[in-house]
Amino acid sequence: MPELPEVETVVRDLKPRLTGRRISGLKVLLPKLLRQKPAEFNRIIGHKILGLSRRGKLILIHLSGDLTLIVHLKLTGRLVHGKNQPDHTHVIFEFDNGSRLFYADLRQFGFLDLVPTSRLKTHQALASLGPEPFDISEEEFLSILSRSRRKIKALLLDQNLIAGLGNIYTDEALFRAGIHPERPANTLTAEEARRLLEAIRQVLKEAISARGSSVRNYVDGQGRAGSFQSRHQVYHQQGKPCPRCGTPIVRKIVAGRGTHFCPYCQPFKHPLPSLD
Ligand SMILES: [Zn+2]
Repeated sequence: MPELPEVETVVRDLKPRLTGRRISGLKVLLPKLLRQKPAEFNRIIGHKILGLSRRGKLILIHLSGDLTLIVHLKLTGRLVHGKNQPDHTHVIFEFDNGSRLFYADLRQFGFLDLVPTSRLKTHQALASLGPEPFDISEEEFLSILSRSRRKIKALLLDQNLIAGLGNIYTDEALFRAGIHPERPANTLTAEEARRLLEAIRQVLKEAISARGSSVRNYVDGQGRAGSFQSRHQVYHQQGKPCPRCGTPIVRKIVAGRGTHFCPYCQPFKHPLPSLD
């Protein structure tokens, strides 16, 4: 699933291409991907794109007339601006300059939701989201961890606690921080939690610079693959030597997800929760 770096890359690509454009036409080939009836969704036509932003893994396209289009790519969604229609295109937006934006989705788990901008913050897709990894304070992060006995991996995947992380970047961040994915969150020391937050930010930053990871079929806003997959240290590296110590990387199901880690660099220590 596209995670924060991939969604951020798509938003950064599309922003200069779409901002200021007026939607002149709409073709809906698969209505079930829309959260509204096509007739209602049609009111997007004629509105101008004021800008784009990201919240967690959501793409937000801000329009004139108090409208925002929320796009969730889920597992295999692609939002591509260009000349050539990608395979599995289900929705096509046409613009006043003749260009087109395609929403394609092989597995069809994604969705498009047209909502009033004035009610965006309280909309269910956004209201429940936790803070962004780049915005959360150290204290806030520590406090989220200290309140939960859940496995740290499960906690990091929970969009309601911290938004934007998925399977790839939780595995990579936990490896960088040297923390076992099954450690109960409240057993991390303050020092470990700080190291983890720093690792999360660092890996996300590097992945954004590399235009995301193309596993499955992710492409950026212009239909190009990202390159961070070649720099994954543990994700899908099971059996290969750990880049730090040479121990083979292990894959285990944690929190219902295939989880990759180094058993030597990420030992399962279980100290008592610190009292300070
Ligand atoms: Zn190692």
